Amino acid sequence: KRILAIETSCDETGVALWDDASGLVAHELFSQVALHAHYGGVVPELASRDHVRRLPLLVARALTQARWTPADVDLVAYTAGPGLAGALLVGAAFAESWAFARGVPTMPIHHLEGHLLSPLMAAPDLAFPFVALLVSGGHTQLLWVEGVGRYRLLGETIDDAAGEAFDKTAKILGLGYPGGPQLAKLAEQGDATRYALPRPLMQSSEIAFSFSGLKTAVALAAETIGDDPQAKADLAASFQAAVIDVLVAKTVRSVEMTGARRLVAAGGVTANAQLRARLAAELEALGCSVVFPPPQWCTDNGAMIAHAAAQRVRLGFPVKTDYRVMIHPRWPLPL
Ligand code: ATP
Ligand code: MG
Ligand code: FE
Repeated sequence: KRILAIETSCDETGVALWDDASGLVAHELFSQVALHAHYGGVVPELASRDHVRRLPLLVARALTQARWTPADVDLVAYTAGPGLAGALLVGAAFAESWAFARGVPTMPIHHLEGHLLSPLMAAPDLAFPFVALLVSGGHTQLLWVEGVGRYRLLGETIDDAAGEAFDKTAKILGLGYPGGPQLAKLAEQGDATRYALPRPLMQSSEIAFSFSGLKTAVALAAETIGDDPQAKADLAASFQAAVIDVLVAKTVRSVEMTGARRLVAAGGVTANAQLRARLAAELEALGCSVVFPPPQWCTDNGAMIAHAAAQRVRLGFPVKTDYRVMIHPRWPLPL
């Protein structure tokens, strides 16, 4: 099967072409960061309109890059949710129309399944079952994964997602949008022991996260630092350390609870080098191997959607042939 995949759940337009024999053969990604930066966050209506503007060109470019014609595509996969309704609608309508015009089937894909399976792009022989830590802009979950489409939720955040906490904290510190990567960069120059920030729920035995109180603690501390750049870096480093401590502790607990031998970590926050280093060190000490997505596939992209669709096709999951536009802006992962 040769797959065209479309990702438009938030503020990146992603397109990928995937071939069973060679894997990923082309990909295009347009980030709308510059478009939303001025507003300090994603403006849904602007996101939708820009997906409309970019998709046709990105698909044409990907086809050229792969030396395919539209007739080479046997299946169109697209992100059907979760995400911004308008943005999803653009990708879904584009994908269903494109497939209808070519007379090929479609496959709606769960965005989080895209993230979750993305580490397997670089480690295709990784065996199930495993524990998955999914940390992104909208989600923070630990899952028990028995196979493609076989997910059990171990626990998740009761308020903000980890990526959201990075972004909000970055905003408090006056860093630009999107804040996660910039906060991580600033933290490199900071002393993580300077501010004693809370580690919410870290001592409790349940698998759950809470990051909104931490954000408030940072806001209070931020009022004391004035224009001192070192204090700002120290606060960034202290915040990052608190988030990582909690993420690592709950991941370790999940691995101990399930007896897992493998951990897969995915989602935008796994681009964070400190988080990677801590997870790898602490889990490998427990005899649990750790797999991350290649850095370029941590945040949203079309390749992970193509990859998830390819796994589903390989396992005989049904395709869709009614060409009805299907979106689920809120769509829990355990299917
Ligand atoms: P979801 O996948 O839950 O729908 P999303 O698609 O917006 O949300 P992703 O694209 O997976 O999320 O990840 C984006 C998030 O990752 C942002 O919150 C961003 O700040 C965070 N992020 C990216 N790089 C880093 C980094 N180096 N350190 C910490 N956070 C980061
Ligand atoms: Mg994004
Ligand atoms: Fe995402």
